[in-house]
Amino acid sequence: MKIAMIGSGYVGLVAAACMAEIGHNVICVDNDEGKIQALSSGDPIIHEQFLPELMARHSGDRLRFTTSLHDAVRASSIIFIAVGTPPRESGEADTSFIEHVCRDIAREINGYGPKTIVVKSTVPAGTNDWIRRVLERSGVAANNFEIAANPEFLREGSAVTDFLYPDRIVVGSNTERATEQLRSVYRPLTEGSYRRRRGRVPQPDNACYPAPFIVTSPVSAEMIKHASNAFLAMKVSFINALANICEANGADIEELVRGIGSDRRIGSRFLKAGIGYGGSCFPKDVSALRAVAEACGYDFRLLDEVMRINRNQHPVFVSKVREALGPLKGKRLAVLGLAFKGGTDDTRESPAIAIVQTLLSEGCTVRAFDPAAMARARDEFAPEDPIVFAESAYDAAHGADALLVLTEWEEFLSLDFVRLRSLLREPMLLDGRNLYEPGAMRALGFFYFGVGRGHCPPNDFSEVRIAGEDAA
Ligand code: NAD
Repeated sequence: MKIAMIGSGYVGLVAAACMAEIGHNVICVDNDEGKIQALSSGDPIIHEQFLPELMARHSGDRLRFTTSLHDAVRASSIIFIAVGTPPRESGEADTSFIEHVCRDIAREINGYGPKTIVVKSTVPAGTNDWIRRVLERSGVAANNFEIAANPEFLREGSAVTDFLYPDRIVVGSNTERATEQLRSVYRPLTEGSYRRRRGRVPQPDNACYPAPFIVTSPVSAEMIKHASNAFLAMKVSFINALANICEANGADIEELVRGIGSDRRIGSRFLKAGIGYGGSCFPKDVSALRAVAEACGYDFRLLDEVMRINRNQHPVFVSKVREALGPLKGKRLAVLGLAFKGGTDDTRESPAIAIVQTLLSEGCTVRAFDPAAMARARDEFAPEDPIVFAESAYDAAHGADALLVLTEWEEFLSLDFVRLRSLLREPMLLDGRNLYEPGAMRALGFFYFGVGRGHCPPNDFSEVRIAGEDAA
């Protein structure tokens, strides 16, 4: 099928490359000329596993890039919209980018046959109806377009495999024609032909097969996306609140998760205590759903609490650093991880960045390392901030009073901890993501602080160091 993807960011670019991979001809549009130039020259612009391979395989053939919405819309029968929907100050989603794109589309489609416009961006309930009105008011004949919702559930860090091996595909549509067109777009994923293809992107172990194709009304599809993200954010805040109780009473949150997560009604996925959720989706989608509820006359205070607990995890972690090191002024800290989660270079609403900014404001100096997010992280700090971007985890650790792990990069699991310990001025390890086993880290000579994993009193310190020296 001939597809236009308007907006070539984290979602639009990955979705377009994956659609090319399953056999469609896709034109990616963006109004950022620099982005389109970089993409056209083969630079994937974002860090995402398998994206460089897909771009190399399809660019210039089934995957093309342009700044011309005009060309892309005229050449395509399905137009996906994947522009941003950032939060307004009030918490509502700002849908003005979508409105802008719809007005541009309206100028292009009369006389070029019926087009199906599919909203992939995350939008408040009722947006599809509103878009229909925008298009009709802009002079597009009602029989010249269809409109559908197709929210995206990919996660940054595993976006390509999430797209190609989805848990489900949700389509909100009121017409048979739009539903059938979208069924055709996704058929290689729902009927399995992609899984039988040689040279395909490898399937993750836990992939769901076949992916259900769920058809709903547009407004239900819009609600499904907001509700999914709000529910996941609620799980994170629930486990973080419990972690704070464990911290106080000596229980271990990871043991708790094993115990409660083995109940299949609960499950252990997404019950990971840490420094809180971030990124461009959860924070904005929870507040957007809160605003949608309010507009419907429902006071959804549960979501206020989800957001409050999340905001509180930053000061909780900073207190832990203070507890470990005493007064923070003048302390030199090594920070591993700046991206909002592992596997991505995205630093939007990163809790790691928020924590580093607080530590800098408290008078610490920081040497930070992230495997992919250094370039984007630089923009989050002022040139005069006492932060140095290190070459490696070991470079960051050199001479530091403590090592703080703030993003769950898989490669942080296989660091040489004996070497790290020898580089630190004090063997203090503050693990904001519960990546490590406290016992193993203590055996390696670290004074270990996780999240919700009980208390390790400072008078263990000399013993720990001796044990570590034996182990080394
Ligand atoms: P993004 O900011 O990375 O990308 C949006 C792109 O749209 C940018 O490249 C921007 O230049 C482009 N754009 C804006 N206005 C345009 C216009 N008029 N014409 C052409 N291009 C235009 O955003 P994203 O992270 O890809 O998110 C896009 C949407 O998908 C949001 O609604 C988001 O909530 C949703 N979503 C994001 C994720 C995620 O993990 N990032 C996952 C699921 C859903």
